[in-house]
Amino acid sequence: MAEPNARPAPPEVDRRAASRAAVAARRARAALKARIASGHLSPLEVLGAAIANPEGVEGRMRVTDFLLSVPAIGATKMRRALSSLGISDAKRLGGLGIHQRERLRVFLAERMSRRTRATRLVVLAGPTAVGKGTVSTYIRENYPDVMLSVSATTRAPRPGEVDGVNYFFVDDAEFDRMIEAGELLEWAVVHNAYRYGTPRAPIQAALDTGKSVLLEIDLQGARSVRAAMPDAVLIFLLPPTWEELVRRLVGRDTEDSEEQQRRLATARIELAAQNEFDYRVVNASVPQAAAEVVELMDARRRPVRP
Ligand code: 5GP
Repeated sequence: MAEPNARPAPPEVDRRAASRAAVAARRARAALKARIASGHLSPLEVLGAAIANPEGVEGRMRVTDFLLSVPAIGATKMRRALSSLGISDAKRLGGLGIHQRERLRVFLAERMSRRTRATRLVVLAGPTAVGKGTVSTYIRENYPDVMLSVSATTRAPRPGEVDGVNYFFVDDAEFDRMIEAGELLEWAVVHNAYRYGTPRAPIQAALDTGKSVLLEIDLQGARSVRAAMPDAVLIFLLPPTWEELVRRLVGRDTEDSEEQQRRLATARIELAAQNEFDYRVVNASVPQAAAEVVELMDARRRPVRP
């Protein structure tokens, strides 16, 4: 029988409760790190939560663990960052001084805007008749999440082409007006014939709302985009072999033979440009090439958070 004044036996109970609490806290920290690492949670949001509640899971997180969970920050970058921010590696997020927090916030925000800019605009180019148009049409029809830029052109629509879907078909006067008004991100005369250009406004609108955009344009256009937006990602579409490219070029009955010879010569020069590109995709089968292009867009899209 218990004595009336006996104290409960707390040590055992407390120890178990404390160890349960510690396990729960470790789990919560691990889950938090995983969400930052996967890009589901922005480090800026985590920092905000840590400041709002220094005793919460975010606030109790060590600044070293926090930075290491940010995509593309390893031990070396983490140490360099902490030293330049004047933050000791023993600090927890919730224990940062007001200036340290602000420096960390600016560091994360700059990193985010750099990476965001670097990931959004993707250019698909390649030699004549390699199948850029077919691959981009396949992407339009099978990957509705991918925004494809619709170019303006002075050439006439081919059978089945729809204004505003395949191109904006405009006359020379309208194309001149677009150039003068600065409405085109880039434009070029393609195959010495018609003018083609990328409207700037829809791209800017997409980028502003955080969407990736795919541009299917010629090589000159790809170079202009790179000059105007150095962070754009350039993908070069290759034929499986040169012979296959010739077969595809000559097999197209939309052009006469003189035109085909001229296009072959152009293709030879264009193929030599592949080393200027960030990625190369071989168009052996259209669904597979399209999947690779979309995957490259996704790969660049994922680490948008700092
Ligand atoms: P097509 O007349 O066969 O549709 O296209 C001819 C070429 O024009 C293709 O190589 C295509 O990539 C390119 N092209 C289409 N739109 C643009 C554009 O906006 N800018 C540039 N520079 N080239 C484009």
